[in-house]
Amino acid sequence: MARWLLSQPYQGPACRPAGERLERSTVPVATDPAATVEEVKTATIVPWDDDQIRLSSSVSVLQGAGNGAYPAGNSVLVEGSAEVALIDPSITVVGRGGAPVAVDAVINSHGHEDHMPGNGLFAESRLHIHHDDLPAARSIEGLMDVYGLTGRTRADFTAQVQEEFFYTPRDDAEGFGDGHVFDLGGVAVEAMHLPGHTRGHSGFRIGNVFFLSDIDLTGFGPYYGDAWSDLDQFDESLRLVREVEADWYVTFHHKGIIEGRETFVKMVDDFHAVIESRHERMLAFLAEPHSLDEMVAHRFVYRPHVEHVFLESVEHRTAELHVARMVDRGEAAEVEPGRYQRT
Ligand SMILES: [Zn+2]
Repeated sequence: MARWLLSQPYQGPACRPAGERLERSTVPVATDPAATVEEVKTATIVPWDDDQIRLSSSVSVLQGAGNGAYPAGNSVLVEGSAEVALIDPSITVVGRGGAPVAVDAVINSHGHEDHMPGNGLFAESRLHIHHDDLPAARSIEGLMDVYGLTGRTRADFTAQVQEEFFYTPRDDAEGFGDGHVFDLGGVAVEAMHLPGHTRGHSGFRIGNVFFLSDIDLTGFGPYYGDAWSDLDQFDESLRLVREVEADWYVTFHHKGIIEGRETFVKMVDDFHAVIESRHERMLAFLAEPHSLDEMVAHRFVYRPHVEHVFLESVEHRTAELHVARMVDRGEAAEVEPGRYQRT
């Protein structure tokens, strides 16, 4: 999911035990007592013990702190006979200082801060991301454009992403498209473009495992509150992904590992239904004419107690997408400048 889910503003390092990252990250330079975590930029091989959950001989999940709740997440490690790929290296991967094996390639499922913290730690590895999200991997400004943040909020979040999510620009990032296959030797990672959350958001099939990334199947429902989010695309991606046959489905956050197609389909349907229930609640509100700002104040995405610096931006983008859909469908009309009413 996304940063917006927090019921309290993210407090940064308080989410991780103080000192953990520093202690583990100094392992490769233990002979240099003056080394600090700032100087240690290269991943090393570290055991993950019980937090490495093996789904097959080649695929395992590196479980993020707090079961992968934001700001952490669940990374997927794929070990082939020729190469190893790590999908979405989380802040927990950075905190531990590496993966259980050497990593040849990092794959970002999309351009969001919590999916790319390890892009700097694995600076020696190739970096792959869908063509459409390339700007987010190549520069911090590109990432901020994905969110659509401006002014003070943009400046504040830029600092947060750099300090707490270890953002490292990768101008060597390589783009891939729908259906691209990463052949790792005896195992393949096949990309499926599933846009809507961001333009380039992708899932990955690895044998009998499917990684859903931020189609995270939470009760919160689909997140499409960024400038680069799209409601129609999200709908279509949910229809597409529902057809995927696998034994294991993995989300980046909360739900984590889901076993069996029957359970998965039920969860996708419940998740998808949130879009229509939001739409219906908005339509009911528009029995009287309202502006987008009034819809933001009413809140259709977040519950009233939730506070976040970007909350209004997300409510606004979400309301805007639904109102555009209503106007398209003839369900609502702009009855005076900037005010909409159900028809
Ligand atoms: Zn995301």
